[in-house]
Amino acid sequence: YRDWETTKMQTTCPYCGSGCQINMIVRNGEIVDAEPANGAANKNMLCVKGRFAAYRFAASKDRLTKPLIKRNGKFEKASWDEALDYVANRFSQLKADYGADSLAGFSCSRSINEDNYALQKMVRVGFGTNNVDNCARVCHAPSVHGLGTTLGSGAMTNTVKDITTDVDVILLIGSNTTEAHPVIGAQIRGAVRNGTKLIVIDPRKIDLTNIATLHLQQKGGTNVALLNGMMNVIINEGLADEKFIAERTEGYEKMKALVADYTPEKVAKICGLEPTEIIKAAEMYARADKAPIVYCLGVTEHSFGTEGVMSISNLALLVGKVGKPGCGINPLRGQNNVQGACDMGCSPFDLPGYQKLNDPKTLPKFEKAWGTKLNPDIGMTSTQVLPAAKTGKIKGLFIFGEDPLVTDPNTSAVREELASLDFLVVHELFMTETAQMADVVLPGLSYLEKEGTFTNTERRVQRVHQVMKPLSGVMDDFKVFCEIAKRMGGKMDFATTSDIMDEIAAVDPAYGGISFDRLKAHPNDGLQWPCTSPTDPGTPILHVDRFTRPGGKAVFMTLPYEAPNELPNDDYPFMLCTGRELYHYNTRAYSERTPGIREKAGKGRDLSYIEINQINAAEMGISDGDKVRVSSRRGTIESYAAVGDVVQPDAAFMTFHFPDGNSNFLTNPATDDIAKCPDYKVCAIKIEPV
Ligand code: SF4
Repeated sequence: YRDWETTKMQTTCPYCGSGCQINMIVRNGEIVDAEPANGAANKNMLCVKGRFAAYRFAASKDRLTKPLIKRNGKFEKASWDEALDYVANRFSQLKADYGADSLAGFSCSRSINEDNYALQKMVRVGFGTNNVDNCARVCHAPSVHGLGTTLGSGAMTNTVKDITTDVDVILLIGSNTTEAHPVIGAQIRGAVRNGTKLIVIDPRKIDLTNIATLHLQQKGGTNVALLNGMMNVIINEGLADEKFIAERTEGYEKMKALVADYTPEKVAKICGLEPTEIIKAAEMYARADKAPIVYCLGVTEHSFGTEGVMSISNLALLVGKVGKPGCGINPLRGQNNVQGACDMGCSPFDLPGYQKLNDPKTLPKFEKAWGTKLNPDIGMTSTQVLPAAKTGKIKGLFIFGEDPLVTDPNTSAVREELASLDFLVVHELFMTETAQMADVVLPGLSYLEKEGTFTNTERRVQRVHQVMKPLSGVMDDFKVFCEIAKRMGGKMDFATTSDIMDEIAAVDPAYGGISFDRLKAHPNDGLQWPCTSPTDPGTPILHVDRFTRPGGKAVFMTLPYEAPNELPNDDYPFMLCTGRELYHYNTRAYSERTPGIREKAGKGRDLSYIEINQINAAEMGISDGDKVRVSSRRGTIESYAAVGDVVQPDAAFMTFHFPDGNSNFLTNPATDDIAKCPDYKVCAIKIEPV
């Protein structure tokens, strides 16, 4: 290893998809502090998580250090050889008894591209199935499917800098940017200070509503109706870009006929808004020269999430605001490398680079590249795999760096599904709730112990550097995948993560010009895919001349509004929305192991809370901080009331960060029909004082 007394080493933040660059301050081999570096997306800024919570967890005493095999209900330490043989033999036996499609693997969107590539290859060449997925399934899979259908690529079209610099209007839908992507939120604030107008569409009064020109506080689950209403106004007022529509799109007339029915008056009733609000938002967006749409999980995590994404695409195409600077359709990807996990082919539908399994050219190409026969059948999504464990179709599951028992909707059902498996392997840093249910737990390495890359929300491939010495006795994650694949008879070997990136470049044209060597020359700005050759500088804006759909044109979709899968009734009169907050992150695996961040969170934020409107609280005799019981059709938890006007009357909001009241005991596992993403944003609950 290098001289461990090095003082400063740059890497990429492991939390959200903003992709901030961090300098880790290393003294005598120990990380002692972190400070912002001047990355293209973060411009010398970090949020509280990047600044304070990006390294201490790695030195936690909770780290797993040895493989563990469960015998008679208890975990026993094992050597790597014993554990890998055991894992490979058990999976091989299940494959022999029930077929390759009885096995599945979930990859880790927090880990580096190279691990994700190796994991999906292990599942395909070792297990012999396409049952592989990543956590985009429960967040931005609707973006991948929706924008993939309408534009030809499911990725953010423009860059963070481009959508926050010298733009006239930012249309923000379903994104609490200040808390979920804080550094991008800060740049939106900066744009507003410099004169940009901000339209926020969100059922809650989020931080950015304080500086917005317009806040459309619509009812949850009504995005498609609202967007159809805005398009109705734009068409009727002659604000559509007819030239762009004629030259670069198809399917317009059918969509136009549908939205003719979505008058502002009708849509206002569905959404709980005034018609004038819809008209004003439509006019502001359409009349602006530069106006990006920025959205997040408030659009995707619905039983009509893919339709919501395609509606956004319709709106932007209608006014010709795609393929241009300061415009575009910009999904903010949630996790640090969820864009990369999707790019790497951790999907039951796609091989690396979104090369479709059902395209006749794909399989022969990968069979040649990997020197092995591959399974041609489209696999199951993660949201299909777990229920299939209960019905006995899935027998063995490998989970890398995910904790579905905490993160997936309807926790009680997920527990039963995981318990139904014949064999569960969890590869993790810590003994998570899901790991406790496993037959084998394998210790993993954190991003601080690896050389690799993350791809941020704007398609920017950036280096991750080995900043601390890997934990003694823990194998490189990618080598674990190689070993399992080989022991199951698969052909797969890599010496280094740099070799893996070279193979990625060889099979995925969008990464064709990316290598560790080349990234050395781009320490602060990485390379944005598509980057197809060693001389290609990368692509800041997609779809400039043509769309990547066959024929080169984008397509309008005809999307009638349908009500959410579950609505409030007399028994469950409140509509619950879930999300995340600034100080903690998802399961808190990192943030809870960071002394100090709890104090920074303030006001008892180590406990769960439920936001309730003050009118409802007064009716129920509930005061701020009171303990309450919260129930849905799927479960009951206790939490603490946060009373105010952030949510509307008859609405509520929770996070799933806190084990004392995890909202996923309540959430609805109903998925949208296309991407199979669950509805975390709308479920019916009741609230009672305790
Ligand atoms: Fe990390 Fe996101 Fe915060 Fe940047 S904004 S420091 S990437 S958590």
